[in-house]
Amino acid sequence: MIPELPTVPERRLAIRLTPDAFRQVRGGHPWVYEQAITSVSDASAAPGSLAVVFDSDRNFAAIGLWDPTSPIRIRILHAGKPRKIDDDFWLETVERAQRVRGRLAAQGTTGYRLLHGENDGVGGLVVDRYDGTLVVKVYSECWLPHLNSVLAALSSTIHPQRVVLRLGRLASGSGLVRSAGLTDGMVVAGDQPDGPILFHENGLSFEADVLDGQKTGHFLDQRENRQFIRSVADGARVLDVFSCTGGFSVHAAAGGARMVHSVDLAGPAIDTAKRNMALNRSLIGSVEHRTTVGDAFEVMDGLGAQMDQYDIVIIDPPSFASRASERDGAIRAYRKLVELGLPLVARGGRLLQASCSSRVTEDDLVGTVHAAIRTQGRQVTSEQVFGHAVDHPISFPQGRYLKAITTTFS
Ligand code: SAH
Repeated sequence: MIPELPTVPERRLAIRLTPDAFRQVRGGHPWVYEQAITSVSDASAAPGSLAVVFDSDRNFAAIGLWDPTSPIRIRILHAGKPRKIDDDFWLETVERAQRVRGRLAAQGTTGYRLLHGENDGVGGLVVDRYDGTLVVKVYSECWLPHLNSVLAALSSTIHPQRVVLRLGRLASGSGLVRSAGLTDGMVVAGDQPDGPILFHENGLSFEADVLDGQKTGHFLDQRENRQFIRSVADGARVLDVFSCTGGFSVHAAAGGARMVHSVDLAGPAIDTAKRNMALNRSLIGSVEHRTTVGDAFEVMDGLGAQMDQYDIVIIDPPSFASRASERDGAIRAYRKLVELGLPLVARGGRLLQASCSSRVTEDDLVGTVHAAIRTQGRQVTSEQVFGHAVDHPISFPQGRYLKAITTTFS
């Protein structure tokens, strides 16, 4: 229990939408934008108030959370038959997720996404599980009045050793967060961890800095793409650009790579990548692990100037575009990365170019990669496009943020 959280306001809001927005919500879209609302019973309602969308006959159509400081004004929790948002609702939501995602343990994976925001009907909320530790990441104030109910459902379903709260951008900018005494990385249930959390991914060991690491401590969405790299890495020299804590690097090494070179701007992430490699030594054998802390563009430029080449080059940058206005700049940045990466791919080698920018579509990325390949005159022998791991379902078009195109060359 977090004592100082705001409570859920008694009064529910009555909402009417434009016909187009109404159809979208009926069809399962999780967002209602400010402009789509034609009437609201109390526009000054507090964040997290329950907002009921009615049809033109005054029948219940959907219910969501009122989010007055976001352009996404309502985050839909449920559409269809009338439904109360009570302890049973949260319990069902968590139990359903755990039933499905918990199966990953059978594949040697104890770090997975339990609740994936809007794609799991909880827009603005993410819950990641690292073995016995849960990390709850809150992206909007509208979740604060519901946080104790969510925590109660998580505790009774999963019995975690601890629950950590991550606040992202809310940590500095939200008055409600401050008045509730919340801080980023706060342990809100269970004991304080005495170091990084250990978990398994595809049978390999990793550590996650759940209190302070990027995202919730590990980029879980690339799990299956890492497994693919593992399957083609035997005997390879591998360059892992934007390696972060070494998810791809360790998988490549476990797949029999001769040499793995991890590059990232963040020194602490590279330190973790080294430790993650060491954690798996007994499985990996004698791989040579090189690391470079530096800017990916400059490092690749330098490797190109030395005429270095690798059998596999992985380029998995951070998001370059969260807004539509940033899309063109993002595409130029991807183009630059592919242009720098291609000369580093040896004959018969492979490039994996990923994008997690939600505003850059799969077609955009594929077109960009193809254009760079044509300019450099490389002959492609095969191409595949991958997406998110299974615990990152996609329930609406904007949910498809991760794309990874892998190309082999003659
Ligand atoms: N491939 C990683 C995830 C990458 S996330 C994995 O499998 O876990 C993006 C990473 O890019 C972050 O680790 C961040 O520190 C790094 N980064 C951001 N800007 C960078 C830059 N200019 N040069 C190198 N790394 C950068």
